[in-house]
This record gives sequence, C-alpha cells and structure tokens, in this order.
Amino acid sequence: MIKEKINELLTQLPTRVRLIAVSKTKPVAAILEAYEAGQRDFGENKVQELVEKESQLPKDIRWHLIGHLQTNKVKYAAAFVHLIHAVDSLKLLQEIDKQAKKNSRIQKVLLQFYIAQEETKFGLELHEAKALLDSSEYRALQNIEICGVMGMASFTDDDAQVRKEFEKLHAIFNELKASYFAEQATFSEISMGMSGDYQLAIEAGSTMIRVGSSIFGGR
Ligand SMILES: *Cc1c(COP(=O)(O)O)cnc(C)c1O
Repeated sequence: MIKEKINELLTQLPTRVRLIAVSKTKPVAAILEAYEAGQRDFGENKVQELVEKESQLPKDIRWHLIGHLQTNKVKYAAAFVHLIHAVDSLKLLQEIDKQAKKNSRIQKVLLQFYIAQEETKFGLELHEAKALLDSSEYRALQNIEICGVMGMASFTDDDAQVRKEFEKLHAIFNELKASYFAEQATFSEISMGMSGDYQLAIEAGSTMIRVGSSIFGGR
C-alpha cells in the first residue's frame, strides 16, 4: 500500500519537486516499506522520535526536521539531520550553529514564515527575517546554510485562500533571494504543501512537499 501511494505521488511531481515522506507517529516498519520503494527523504516533527527512528534505520536516509524546534533539543539531532525546516528565530539559528560546529558540520536550514490566517501557526514575518539577516549576530554564524523558506497554509477548503498564501511564500522567497542570496545557488528551496494542499503548492512553485497521511494513512 505505502509503496503504491509513493509511486502514485511521484508520477504527479514535476522533477523540481522533492517528496518528503512525513512519518511522524508511524512505526519503523512503515518507514522501511517506503524506503524499499526507493524513498530516501523522511520528515519528523519531534526530536526524540526522530532520534529513536534514526538509530534503527538505514544511514542513507535524509532526515528532515519539520516541526517547531526548541533550542534545548537541537543538540540531539545535530549530528545527522539533513535539513531543519522550521527556523523562526535568531536564537534558534545561533544554537543550531553552535551544535553544528561541535559536530564539524554545516547545517542546512530553512526559514519558516507565517503565511496562514491561524494564530496557532509559527513563523517569521518578512520584516523580522530581514532584521535577522541584517544583524551582525547572523553574519557571524559559520556553520549554518540557509537554503530557502518553509510555510504552512491555513487549514481550509478555500482553495483561493490557500493559493494566495502559497503565492505569498513564493514572493517572500523571491525577495530574499534577490536581496540576500543572489550569489548563493543553494538558496533554492520552497518547502510548502501537505496531503491536503500539495497540488496547489506545486502550482505556486513548491520545491519540497511534506506529505504524511496520503502515504501512511491517517494519524
Ligand atoms: C504533519 C506535518 C505534515 C504532513 O501532514 P499531512 O497532512 O499528514 O500530509 C507536513 N508538515 C508539517 C510541518 C507537519 O507537522
């Protein structure tokens, strides 16, 4: 079943879009089934669960930390996590840099933006991101690489609203690319789209979709 779902999804994706299989709350056996179908990018939203699964699964899996991250948890994932999607403060970025340095790594991250109408979602506003990128504290960091942006749209059936939010994230990406990352080819990712809205996200320029329940079933 999982294998079929993945193959079905992959046939719909333009080549620029990478599928992150979101395996949170799902057992190691389910992840292995996806792995055997060729899937290598997996997303988890809790550090403890991520660390437990990583220790039991093949080492060529690229782990994506997609959930809100507390500074005191960064150290547990710092040795291996491929991409941290939800960076929303300078303080968190500084801690990621510190832990990456300890592990002699350059940690790839995305900046999370607040694009939804819901108060419960996390993320930066554009002016906050600019203040962060303009700060001397940010410029002093040596072990992080910002590779793009991430966001979550409102949970609604209103496609026009969702489309507008994804387009807003794409515009934020373009603005940051032009103002801060024009020389950095690796600033190239727009992580947006989940099971319910990935088609809209792809139409709005997503390069990474984070899909859980459509692959692994409901939680
Ligand atoms: C759970 C989660 C997803 C996947 O959600 P589905 O609706 O199951 O596809 C994507 N992104 C984040 C940040 C999540 O926490």
